[in-house]
Amino acid sequence: MAGKYLKVKCKCGNEQVVFSHTTSVVKCTGCKEPLAHPAGGTAVIHGEVLGDLDS
Ligand SMILES: [Zn+2]
Repeated sequence: MAGKYLKVKCKCGNEQVVFSHTTSVVKCTGCKEPLAHPAGGTAVIHGEVLGDLDS
């Protein structure tokens, strides 16, 4: 699995890039809420996925 970089929008309005196969919890830089956490391969994204950076 290569994974990709996703642009995720948090409920607070902050947008940041999250790796789709992150192995650690990613927190929002705006509100410090978790935006993604690892789940045995692909990450579970808690925010709204706006798209990926490869396209
Ligand atoms: Zn946030």
